[in-house]
Amino acid sequence: MHLLSGDSTPAAAPLVDRFGRQVNYVRFSVTDRCDFRCVYCMSERMTFLPRARVLTLEELAALGRAFVELGVRKIRITGGEPLVRRNVLWLLRELGRLREHGLTELVLTTNGSQLERMAADLRDAGVARLNISLDSLDPARFQRITRVGRLDAVLRGIRAAQAAGFQRLKLNAVILKNRNHDEVVDLARFAIDNGLDISFIEEMPLGVIGDHDRAEAYYSSDAIRADLERVFALTPTTENTGGPSRYYRVAGVDSRIGFISPHSHNFCGDCNRVRVSVEGRLLLCLGQEHSVDLRHILRAYPGDRERLKRAIVAAMAIKPRGHDFRLGGQPVILRHMNHTGG
Ligand code: SAM
Ligand code: SF4
Repeated sequence: MHLLSGDSTPAAAPLVDRFGRQVNYVRFSVTDRCDFRCVYCMSERMTFLPRARVLTLEELAALGRAFVELGVRKIRITGGEPLVRRNVLWLLRELGRLREHGLTELVLTTNGSQLERMAADLRDAGVARLNISLDSLDPARFQRITRVGRLDAVLRGIRAAQAAGFQRLKLNAVILKNRNHDEVVDLARFAIDNGLDISFIEEMPLGVIGDHDRAEAYYSSDAIRADLERVFALTPTTENTGGPSRYYRVAGVDSRIGFISPHSHNFCGDCNRVRVSVEGRLLLCLGQEHSVDLRHILRAYPGDRERLKRAIVAAMAIKPRGHDFRLGGQPVILRHMNHTGG
């Protein structure tokens, strides 16, 4: 018998916050570790958490079950780099089984470095879609941004994901002024030529990174769109994939071009998601510290799913209206993106 078998009664009460927003999407950061050190995500020398502070795979599976019983329909597995977590396929298979209980989308965000060897297994485990980060098509620049990553491995990973049958692969590109802002047209063209969607992301001020001044490196979504519109005819769409991207279509092609714009176009009004940090903190907002310690409940009351669910429902009362990102000065949020689960 597998871990998630048993009673599957869906909860009547969905997760709704004080502002009437329904939460039906959760992201799990399954590890703080990573084989890259992207300059916007981590500092060069990172200290990673001791294993005992990180949720076990069994704890993550139990959390997934609780969320789905509370009406969550989409789970995104992220990190850190989720594919460097040992036995992550076991977790994905367990979560994949939650489709029997109402989960409609199990998706994953990856830097692509491990996809060449893992793409087919991810499909088999029940992962429906992948987001793959790609900030540059120039090998030297790619390495400067990721500090240690190899572009060729990621490109092979993208091809492996396509060969494994993944549809609607999406690229994520964080755009920084004077680092890669001049590549937005090339990145969009690469997406279009390869039948991929792409989202351009404004950098968010999470954690102290040391590499650059975030205000100086800011390159707005509007500036990116203006650069793209010199080459492509973009038409806004109302398509919504359940995330924060605002999408545009390019005439005559299947690819969608999205913009995630925490600074220039606040997306909090229709927020439908929460996150679980690598240490099991239920984070009610990416850009605020309001949280509930679910690891404590998992460890103090093992197997008590009803207590876990009550804590998740109660947490809706402290979901804040929105983030409070500022570009200048020190970041207000000291946790890094790899803990948070981007
Ligand atoms: N390692 C995986 C990856 O890179 O795709 C998953 C985790 S990563 C934290 C998830 C996404 O967050 C990536 O697309 C990454 O580019 C983005 N990201 C990381 N730090 C960010 C920041 N400070 N601002 C905006 N996006 C960020
Ligand atoms: Fe690793 Fe992803 Fe952060 Fe880059 S963005 S350092 S790949 S977790």
